[in-house]
Amino acid sequence: MSIAFVSSEVEPERWLPGLARALPGETLEAWPAVADPAAVDIALVAAPPPGVLAKFPQLKFIQSLWMGVDGLLGDATLPKQVPIARMLDPGMVAAMSETVLARVLDWHRHFHRYRALQAARDWQPLPQHMAADRAVGILGLGTLGEDAAAKLVALGFEVLGWSRSAKNLPGVACFHGDAGLESMLRRADILVCLLPLTPATRGLLNARAFGMLRPGTCLINVGRGPQVVDADLLAALEAGQLSHAYLDVFETEPLPADHPYWAHPAISLTPHIAALTEPRTALAMVATNIERFRRGEPPRALVNTQAGY
Ligand code: NAP
Repeated sequence: MSIAFVSSEVEPERWLPGLARALPGETLEAWPAVADPAAVDIALVAAPPPGVLAKFPQLKFIQSLWMGVDGLLGDATLPKQVPIARMLDPGMVAAMSETVLARVLDWHRHFHRYRALQAARDWQPLPQHMAADRAVGILGLGTLGEDAAAKLVALGFEVLGWSRSAKNLPGVACFHGDAGLESMLRRADILVCLLPLTPATRGLLNARAFGMLRPGTCLINVGRGPQVVDADLLAALEAGQLSHAYLDVFETEPLPADHPYWAHPAISLTPHIAALTEPRTALAMVATNIERFRRGEPPRALVNTQAGY
């Protein structure tokens, strides 16, 4: 049996030499240079071209090299019943928390406003707030949300979190379900989206949700673009319901050149770089999952395809 690396976006050289050292004895090939597709039983994937996984009739396990699997699950040609594990990468988790902290601090310490004041040659000290004065609400308390929450707690912020199931995290006021969402939105000064994209979270950040926020709330979206309704976000900024939006992910990526987000004075955007998989720290998890699969043990971080994450 053999392992196929299938990606339209990631160079196999970033993964295959390290995996070959960690898994001596395995046959590792990068699509399309796979000698015998019928021998492939494991696929390592990052944005695989649609239809390629269906070419492996013996496929028994898919390991995603990304933490989000919405793109993979959205591929109609994905072989059904083949278990999928998502990535759990400590390097990526650390990178995401760094991005969240950088954005929270940028807004909390008014640095986004000082950049605009500098451009206008305007010397204007703004009022100082303490971290404890600010409530940061995190949508999604999974691998990424939990780490970011713990680091925000350590900085002294009041931290709120929302998930599907009930949770108990040190120092975090936890909410869940529909009623929990409204309670959290009404208390947050900064809202961080770290949700997976599923049918339940698509369009969640809409006019209704923005209407529950306190005027002047800051939004940080590092989850997925389609969780935000663009027109409702622009209207919420216009109305002052939101004071600033930090966006890393978009409905259409790359963001089209004529999109109003590019030049909006209250939007800071980045090109989907909030956290990237880091092969140096991710490789061990992939190798362990392949070893577990070969031993007949369940791989870690299996995706619940019903829930969509
Ligand atoms: P995860 O461990 O699967 O956690 C997902 C969290 O979202 C869980 O707490 C889950 O609740 C909650 N959730 C899911 N559906 C929900 C719903 N309908 N209502 C309320 N809560 C819901 O995922 P993760 O590893 O933290 O990653 C989260 C997402 O971040 C990824 O799916 C990906 O889209 C995004 N991401 C973005 C970047 C970037 O560079 N911008 C990088 C990596 C990942 P339960 O705990 O109750 O299950």
